[in-house]
Amino acid sequence: MCGIVGYVGSKNAMPVLLEGLSRLEYRGYDSAGLALQRKEKIEVFKKAGRLDALRTLLPKRNAATTGIGHTRWATHGAPTDLNAHPHTDSSGCVSIAHNGIIENAGELREYLTTRGHSFASDTDSEVLAALIAEEYGNAGSLLAAVKASLRRVAGTYGLLAMHRDEPANIITARNGSPVVVGVGDNEMLVASDVAALVPFTRQVLYLEDGEIASLSAKHHEIHSLEASRPGVSQRTPSVVDFDVTLASKGHHDHFTLKEISEQPEALERVLRGRIDTRFKTAHFGGLNLEPKELLSFKRIKILGCGSAFIAGSIGAAMIERTTRLPADAESAAEFRYRNPIIEHDTLYMAVSQSGETFDTLTAVQEIQRKGGTVLGVVNVVGSSIARQCGAGIYLHAGPEVAVVSTKTFACTLCAFALFALYMGRMRDMSPAEGEAIINALTQLPEQMRAQIASPDPLRRLAQKYAHYQRAYFVGRCEGFGLAREGALKLKEISYIHAEAYPASELKHGPLALIDEQTPTFVIIPQDDLLTKNLSTIAEIKTRQGPVVAVSQADMSDKPDVDDCIAVPKGHPLTDPILLLPPLQFLAYYAALERECDVDQPRNLAKSVTVE
Ligand code: GLU
Repeated sequence: MCGIVGYVGSKNAMPVLLEGLSRLEYRGYDSAGLALQRKEKIEVFKKAGRLDALRTLLPKRNAATTGIGHTRWATHGAPTDLNAHPHTDSSGCVSIAHNGIIENAGELREYLTTRGHSFASDTDSEVLAALIAEEYGNAGSLLAAVKASLRRVAGTYGLLAMHRDEPANIITARNGSPVVVGVGDNEMLVASDVAALVPFTRQVLYLEDGEIASLSAKHHEIHSLEASRPGVSQRTPSVVDFDVTLASKGHHDHFTLKEISEQPEALERVLRGRIDTRFKTAHFGGLNLEPKELLSFKRIKILGCGSAFIAGSIGAAMIERTTRLPADAESAAEFRYRNPIIEHDTLYMAVSQSGETFDTLTAVQEIQRKGGTVLGVVNVVGSSIARQCGAGIYLHAGPEVAVVSTKTFACTLCAFALFALYMGRMRDMSPAEGEAIINALTQLPEQMRAQIASPDPLRRLAQKYAHYQRAYFVGRCEGFGLAREGALKLKEISYIHAEAYPASELKHGPLALIDEQTPTFVIIPQDDLLTKNLSTIAEIKTRQGPVVAVSQADMSDKPDVDDCIAVPKGHPLTDPILLLPPLQFLAYYAALERECDVDQPRNLAKSVTVE
């Protein structure tokens, strides 16, 4: 969460920083700010609200060629002008932008107050500016002062720092929050995400946890923060492959709609090069596990947070159904705190769109520390989780900018379908069954394309249901996973209180809340549980609850169904993906109807790099 951008070079820094921040706004958007340095003068501009609010404060031109910027997702202190970053120490020498949480901020604040520093904000981050200023006196250089300061800090950071006396220098450091350095021609950039760098350079260096870098226009140096490893590490930049057009809205009103519409092409990219028609299986380039090793696993545990957790739970159901290998999913955040038993015959898989989700990253580290094997299922190439796992499946969904995940959810399910095919064929799936799955997967992008081509009926349906204050989503097995995703999407962007339940659980409690003001969206695939789901619908209707069925079966003649959404039929492994778009469109159009900010819902941000 939160975006940081830094620039040092020969251009005017302000437009570069603004361009970078606009590409990072998905990471946090409750306030934004810039600190611009020219010679020995630092000017700070910051404002609560979106980046556009900051733009109204800025001068038309500014000659500074060094600067740092921030777009915030507040953890400590309300989203106000004063709490916005960058923060400056009380003498005005040091400016910092910070992503993360300083856990011992209270203690450091007390100490720094006794040393004569004062504080203007309620944030944890501000102590970093004062601490660096304090250490600068002894250390004599910004690099040494930041190093000394960070050794006293507990918590997480992606940090940028500037000092008035070092106008052509930026220091950046990382512990738990992503930092990428962009190496340009007579300029150096740094950001939380390559998206902010690619308009200027494709040459990038990823900082690892515990590293600190000193950047000037022509030079970069990476050091370890550990006192015992003071050496400078030389690293050759890698070239990042990033399609800038995919990260812009194009002709769509919102990134959310654009990303829903991009699903057919995104699915084609997940499938590309991964289908083996000769042996009726799938193959992956980056698992780094031999078939013999894969066969030795007795179960699969999938971890993720938010939609990634839900996609993992549907993926686990797909794998178990297809391979008869026990598989389940768990919230990565809960997992790492319950001192989990890590077994060498369990294959762990960590799902994260950004590859930066802090809770998931630390779960991966916990598994590895205990000797477990973990594969990443990640969208962003080169991200922290991808690098930490060192093996796994890239989604290749393209950049996802809207805060809620849509195309990466579909692509994660598709990656799990491929993985289920691969594992299934390694175990006891017949070639004929493998071929049926391949046929279904090959048809999937086209089926999805036809499905999303005409969203108007869904728009009308969403308009009809947008005025209810609450809703239920129910389903069974993979359908329950989809119900969870449908409810999450709706609450995230339309702020309608939506709850998901296994259809079978409704009668064990929540039925008490069903009435004519509480619609239920029933995910009802045409499978062997169809009649059971129809009984659930009857139970709801008996309590006057409006019912919307999302199904491949024809529901138009069912008197208990108020509205039905028809979905094309695929294979049990592709059906969950085909049931998804109506749920996404419903949430999107309901949010529009309620005049919500679809791409940047309140209180949320993408890429949750804090605990
Ligand atoms: N903890 C800091 C704050 O609340 C940084 C939050 C962020 O990562 O945006 O200001």
